[in-house]
Amino acid sequence: MTDYDAVVIGAGNAGLTAAATLARGGVRTLLVERHNVPGGCATSFRRGRFEFEVALHQLSGIGSPDQAFMLRRLFEGLGIADKLEFVEEHDLYRVVVPGRLDVTIPADWQGAVDALEAAFPGNRSRIEDFFALVKLITFCQVAVMRNAPTDQVDPRYFHEALRPVAEVLDDFFDDDGLKMALSVYWTYLGQPPSVLPFQDFALTLFAYLEFKPWHLRGGSQAMSSALLGSFLDAGGEVRFNTGVEAILTDEGRVTGVRLDTGEQISAPEVVSNASLPTTYAMLGEVPPEVAADLGTRRVGVSGFVMHMGLDASAVDLGFTTSTTFINRDTDDDRTHASWRTFDPVRGVAVSCYDVEPIGFAPSGACHVTLMTLQYADAWDDVAPQDYAATKFAYAETLLDLMETTYPGVRAVIEEVDVATPLTMTRYLGHPGGAIYGYDQDATEGWLFRNSERKPGVEGLSLAGSWAGMGGFQPTLEAGSRVGRRLLRRFVNA
Ligand SMILES: Cc1cc2nc3c(=O)[nH]c(=O)nc-3n(C[C@H](O)[C@H](O)[C@H](O)COP(=O)(O)OP(=O)(O)OC[C@H]3O[C@@H](n4cnc5c(N)ncnc54)[C@H](O)[C@@H]3O)c2cc1C
Repeated sequence: MTDYDAVVIGAGNAGLTAAATLARGGVRTLLVERHNVPGGCATSFRRGRFEFEVALHQLSGIGSPDQAFMLRRLFEGLGIADKLEFVEEHDLYRVVVPGRLDVTIPADWQGAVDALEAAFPGNRSRIEDFFALVKLITFCQVAVMRNAPTDQVDPRYFHEALRPVAEVLDDFFDDDGLKMALSVYWTYLGQPPSVLPFQDFALTLFAYLEFKPWHLRGGSQAMSSALLGSFLDAGGEVRFNTGVEAILTDEGRVTGVRLDTGEQISAPEVVSNASLPTTYAMLGEVPPEVAADLGTRRVGVSGFVMHMGLDASAVDLGFTTSTTFINRDTDDDRTHASWRTFDPVRGVAVSCYDVEPIGFAPSGACHVTLMTLQYADAWDDVAPQDYAATKFAYAETLLDLMETTYPGVRAVIEEVDVATPLTMTRYLGHPGGAIYGYDQDATEGWLFRNSERKPGVEGLSLAGSWAGMGGFQPTLEAGSRVGRRLLRRFVNA
């Protein structure tokens, strides 16, 4: 008899939902995590009297209790929905280009049309038509994902789905400010509108407008801890501060793992939540078709984040929305190109966690993060002795841009911590500290890649941002999906 039926490598979102699904299905499962807490990106840490949220800005996929969306149902299935306190955000975001544009978009279709019409008069019917297309492409995409016969799919889907967002916007609008106000979520996907496939963007906008953006009281760590609890309550076992250093095989079939303690664990099934390069390096021998696939992929973007505990309330500082995107201008391609440089930041996402409080700041204070995406290769030529000075100099540029809209923040900083792509690399173990896995352009979409379905080695399953789409909702769902697929295999064995 083997030590376990399954070993899950990594306790990120997908590792946790896979492990909990397996254990609750009666599979003897060991979860192994390098770090000392569950969550991967989905975690938080403490500085002074503040808790700092690491990654979660806006959670999609929850929906209201009477219109539950996929994640709420997933949490119910794992027995944790009633252990989580969901915090609803009432706006999608405020988007600002100083001196040019300042509009807040409510999190509902009609409110969004009204707000955009007020800011850009004369566009109402075009905005409504654009939203109608967003809905159509989303419904069609879901149908196609579920293998609907192509003759039952609206032909506009085949015309629009893979066109870049910028081209589709050009069909509807002339005003660059309006185009930016509608498309600023592109940063959540890491590709500029000139590259990002319309179907990926449409799905994101639809998810937030239809089912609202949410957060969690206790932040993403509350969710990660609840998922771990679901796993442990079902009899799962976990080892923290332990890395897997090899995936063992015999005649091309997985037989277990070797831990960094040297201990060998036998199991017929291994689920990896680690990056694909790490996973296949742990296997030693990479199947030729997998090697060919990996050779054509590009490591995606990481992040640069300034976490702040501020000695003033959200109201005092002028925050009216949880999320604000501030951009120097409307040139998104230039902004995307700047992610490989230390040029003064051109766009920053400002998250205030105390407009709709998640409980991370004491009364009268607030927790704010400033984030820009950045590729790790920007750091290649920074010498270790220059690291701290480089990161603080760059962080100043984030503060400068933020203060165009929220002046006075510098003066009330009580605690601050800055994370760079090198921080992400260190904590996650991923190449390039990539937070969404591979670059999420059209060639990486579900139409063209299917690492999750084709791991290439019997007994190996892949779950997480590197095997599919990055982000909270996609990875939580991926782990659950992979777990259920494996359960079926155990039942049929
Ligand atoms: C700063 C930041 C902001 C973000 N903002 C958002 C957002 O607003 N919305 C959104 O949807 N997404 C956001 N993301 C992205 C999102 O958090 C990630 O895409 C998602 O959480 C990745 O989940 P995952 O399942 O792929 O696992 P990961 O979180 O990547 O975790 C993988 C885990 O595997 C462990 N591991 C790796 N190798 C080994 C090994 N050999 N042995 C044992 N353990 C191992 C790691 O320690 C880690 O815990 C953000 C991410 C960051 C960092």
